[in-house]
Amino acid sequence: MRYVSTRGAAPALDFEQACLAGLAADGGLYVPEAWPQLSRAEIAALAGLSYVETAVRVMRPFIGDALADDELRALCEQAYGRFAHQAVTPLAQLDAQHWVLELFHGPTLAFKDVALQLLGLFFERFLASRDTHLTVIGATSGDTGSAAIDALAGRAKVDIFMLHPHGRVSDVQRRQMTTVKAPNVHNIAIEGNFDDAQALVKAMFADRDFAGRFDLSAVNSINWARLMAQIVYYFYAAVRLGAPERPVAFSVPTGNFGDVFAGYVAAKMGLPITRLIVATNVNDILHRALSAGDYSAGEVTPTAAPSMDIQVSSNFERLLFDLDPAAVPDQMAAFARDRAMRLTGPQMQGAGAIFTSARIDPDEMALAMRWACEGSGEVLDPHTAIGLAAARGAGLPADVPVVTLATAHPAKFRDAVERATGVRPSLPPRVGALFEREERFDLLPAELPSIIEYIASRATPTRSG
Ligand SMILES: *Cc1c(COP(=O)(O)O)cnc(C)c1O
Repeated sequence: MRYVSTRGAAPALDFEQACLAGLAADGGLYVPEAWPQLSRAEIAALAGLSYVETAVRVMRPFIGDALADDELRALCEQAYGRFAHQAVTPLAQLDAQHWVLELFHGPTLAFKDVALQLLGLFFERFLASRDTHLTVIGATSGDTGSAAIDALAGRAKVDIFMLHPHGRVSDVQRRQMTTVKAPNVHNIAIEGNFDDAQALVKAMFADRDFAGRFDLSAVNSINWARLMAQIVYYFYAAVRLGAPERPVAFSVPTGNFGDVFAGYVAAKMGLPITRLIVATNVNDILHRALSAGDYSAGEVTPTAAPSMDIQVSSNFERLLFDLDPAAVPDQMAAFARDRAMRLTGPQMQGAGAIFTSARIDPDEMALAMRWACEGSGEVLDPHTAIGLAAARGAGLPADVPVVTLATAHPAKFRDAVERATGVRPSLPPRVGALFEREERFDLLPAELPSIIEYIASRATPTRSG
């Protein structure tokens, strides 16, 4: 499998190269040059398979000969062996139509673990035979940072620099990042919001001098391997609910459009998904884009679902490219200039065929949380509750099962959960004594020169440079 850039002006890569790379050199994102297909028979044959075996079959075509089957299976076993539930991503039923897919049983309590635990092992495996030292740079609204740090702490040949918006992540999220002692972990709190942090990361990749001195890599969902690992649970859940005979819908609390794009890929591969519901909070750029073609960034409003407090949704570019590739370079140039651009006709039609979107306000979020808690005893975190509110409002026929992705454990956002439901979820023992450990991070202004200087003085330069 070859990977090409959404901007069409960077060299094509194989899986291993795409996994170790971050942004493409032309500023685009890597995507497979074609979508592999699973036949109805192959999908039916996933019934009853373990999560690991499902993962091997779904990811196999994307990986090509970068890893042998046994090697891939062993890495999946190692990654998913750290999950606290035997089913890795179990389904819970809320009523006759609604289900939640619990993606938060990993070490840091959010769905990011599903992809990042595996990505950490891919990095280690691919770096073992290379004479390089990787400098991973990421921006986080909270969950990517904790999951990436857990996955990479103490690994050889990798340093990780994680930027988070100061004061805008939950106390649990921050401590999961800042209490990790491994010397290859560097936490930077920036004076700005998540979009500022993400823009700084993109600017570092685009800075030829800086990018030329280090082997930079990304753990944000701009990294293709992350999205690939997330395709698996769409198959796993849908097959358990009757696919391929019975089509299923998914509702996905969305920020950077990574998780829901993985659902789109599952559909492209042949999984019968009738609808993908893109649920946003009041930071609704994706809802405006999908409902009215208006992709324009506003100001970020902080909410109880901080991992969705995003106005620039990186992975949306992958969808636009899939639907109308020729339009993307101009659209992205327009967006860089004006912070606004419009979708083309083919993009609107293609997206409308599978996506529905909804903007959920704080009252609707709290209502959904209470509905789940009172009706079935399932305690949801704010992000998941936004997904559920959108799922219940989508008006899908009663015979279509609707799966809301439960993207975080409620204990990660326990203040917001307690406010809405009166229940204060307790932290599962696997996170350890977070509140007793010492924190370590540096506070920097959201300015490229200071961040570059900070990283350059701590990272390992490339051999060639
Ligand atoms: C990251 C995150 C999201 C958003 O996922 P995207 O892939 O960025 O759309 C939603 N909920 C939680 C809890 C998250 O951590």
